Amino acid sequence: MNEHDSSKMMDVLTDKGYKGTQNIEDADLIVVNTCSVRHNPENKVYSFLGRLADLKKNNKELIIAVAGCVAQQTGKQILDRSPVVDMVFGPDNFFELPQMIESVKNGQRVLMTEWRDRTDGNVQNFIPEQWIEAGHADGPKAYVAIMKGCNNFCSFCIVPMTRGREAYRHPENIMREIHNLVDKGAKELWLLGQNVNSYRADNRGFLELLDDISKVEGLKRIRFTSPHPKDWNNKLSDLMAERPNICNHLHLPLQAGSNRILKLMRRRHTNQDYLDKVQYLRSVCPAAEISTDIIVGFPTETDEEFEETLNMIKQVQYSQVFSFKYSPRPGTKAEEMPDDVPLDTKRKRLERVIKTQERINEEKLAPYIGTVHQVMIDGRHPKKPDIINGRTDGHRPVAVKGSNANIGDFINVRITGFHAHWLEGMQEK
Ligand code: SAH
Ligand code: SF4
Repeated sequence: MNEHDSSKMMDVLTDKGYKGTQNIEDADLIVVNTCSVRHNPENKVYSFLGRLADLKKNNKELIIAVAGCVAQQTGKQILDRSPVVDMVFGPDNFFELPQMIESVKNGQRVLMTEWRDRTDGNVQNFIPEQWIEAGHADGPKAYVAIMKGCNNFCSFCIVPMTRGREAYRHPENIMREIHNLVDKGAKELWLLGQNVNSYRADNRGFLELLDDISKVEGLKRIRFTSPHPKDWNNKLSDLMAERPNICNHLHLPLQAGSNRILKLMRRRHTNQDYLDKVQYLRSVCPAAEISTDIIVGFPTETDEEFEETLNMIKQVQYSQVFSFKYSPRPGTKAEEMPDDVPLDTKRKRLERVIKTQERINEEKLAPYIGTVHQVMIDGRHPKKPDIINGRTDGHRPVAVKGSNANIGDFINVRITGFHAHWLEGMQEK
């Protein structure tokens, strides 16, 4: 979501005459787009701002902005704590960048963290018309935010506080953005939302929207993130199985394997509900790759309960697991509970999740050898010119040797080997 927001900010700034630079010393404007979902990224913001102070000494005109969830959450504190910062704005305010820049140029320090209107049944075209037209694809890939915010209030999560309540765009407004991006060369679209499958507007839910989008001509791959397990259903699995351009990859955040912990987390499903949905998906779409997010060391999690998380990981056989040590976040329900799992225990649990997933990955990658997969090329190896990178339909990274294909090409690749996290292969002639 932050990549999407940064890309939209880039559209707004390009219109104001700014150009991106790879060299931070050349910048006249630096926007630090932040995440506050865990504590560490927040600390990183302050240390990064410290590093920017010198740049400001050398360039008095330099404007420094802090955007995103840390900005929304801490607002004025950032201005107080970091004198180098000229403006602070939240995830709902980035289209107001031109006015904010003007204010800074007129000598003001800007704080803009007001929510945009969420009335009208929470259906709101929150990307202004002008920026739908200006939308661009970064190579073959582009993001489309179908909704924003979150109403779930999982007990550990700060997102409802930093991104506000859910708002959904009208389907025709989303479709217009999609057609525009496909016309401009996008081949793979990522539908974004904190909880994409709670989408509902004009009598269309996520299922109907996905169905419409899958019929767009020229759109070769559709991905989405994140769906919530409680709102995933078998009809969505059927649609994924049926439509060749809906990728066979589901990122379904589990968070924990124990029902007691899931309940304390307010996830509103059990481990069995989750397994049933996964099993159905695998029955209709055997090629589906499933990835997840796991939190270890949630308050009161026992060793036995943690073992249940490992058991779920083994049963589901994920393609990728993003695992995090629980960190208490301000304003959340879980913050009221004692953070009683010692840091060392959290570290050990995290290590076991990683080790378990590494073993699963090895078992799952070995059978790829000798098989042929369609790969969309999305980049080059930074050091080895004879290697290009891409992804399978199931979102497995592949390094392809000896191919003349360009970024955005779809090629068939025979898998010849694998490493810890990626496959290796040769283009089929
Ligand atoms: N909307 C998504 C999650 C968005 S936050 C969902 O419902 O799953 C991304 C991930 O960060 C979460 O899935 C969770 O694993 C992790 N996370 C969120 N809050 C956290 C916290 N307080 N401590 C540790 N990890 C957290
Ligand atoms: Fe956070 Fe839960 Fe909403 Fe995901 S669904 S963003 S974890 S509150």
